[in-house]
Amino acid sequence: MIALRDITKRYDVGEETLTVLKEIDLTIEDGEFVSIMGPSGSGKSTLMHILGCLDLPTSGSYLLDDIEVAERTKRELAQLRNQSIGFVFQNFHLLPRMSALRNVELPMMYAGVPRATRRARATQLLAQVGLTERARHLPTALSGGQKQRVAIARALANSPRLLLADEPTGALDQATGADIMELFRQLHEAGMTIVVITHDPSVASCAQRTISLVDGVIQEEGHA
Ligand code: ADP
Ligand code: MG
Repeated sequence: MIALRDITKRYDVGEETLTVLKEIDLTIEDGEFVSIMGPSGSGKSTLMHILGCLDLPTSGSYLLDDIEVAERTKRELAQLRNQSIGFVFQNFHLLPRMSALRNVELPMMYAGVPRATRRARATQLLAQVGLTERARHLPTALSGGQKQRVAIARALANSPRLLLADEPTGALDQATGADIMELFRQLHEAGMTIVVITHDPSVASCAQRTISLVDGVIQEEGHA
């Protein structure tokens, strides 16, 4: 479902050009659970931005469901990000003035889902992540692990085909992080395609396959 071929990403920084990703080849099948590891600055987040259609490569091909991402219009890309890809970040990225429930409803609102339908679906998603009791709480009234559960529920709102997580346990203690990984494991079992970026080998070991990125190059691929 995902095929990166010869992907290079460069940034112009003043006079210099920084090559952050170098001729990346990567195929991810439907339903796969992949982790990406590598030192700080090795290009992991840049790769996730490209996978998530938040950014386009400088050169190379990215086929998502047999369609070249670079050939889509801006509008199609925005729709793709909202409806086909779920994002989870280290620092949750919840909207602070909205309740857990409204945060989860937001992607459905952008997709034009009617109010009653999105409320019902958001309620069901919060139940799925074990937060029924916290639906009306603002993010400030939630623990880190609870915030990340809300963020995961939100990422699932439009039933994406791909879930991307950048250091999802990076701001959590070990036990809470393990709970979050258990949630990812359940989603994988239910058929979700998941890519998790992490520094933590115990988090990476939840995946079927680990890719290690060093200085913008895929170094090795290990299978669980
Ligand atoms: P990682 O997530 O592995 O820590 P990143 O993908 O965030 O690495 O960054 C890789 C390199 O690209 C770093 O040297 C970073 O400074 C640089 N970089 C990332 N985004 C930009 C940008 N928008 N402009 C210039 N340089 C960038
Ligand atoms: Mg990063």
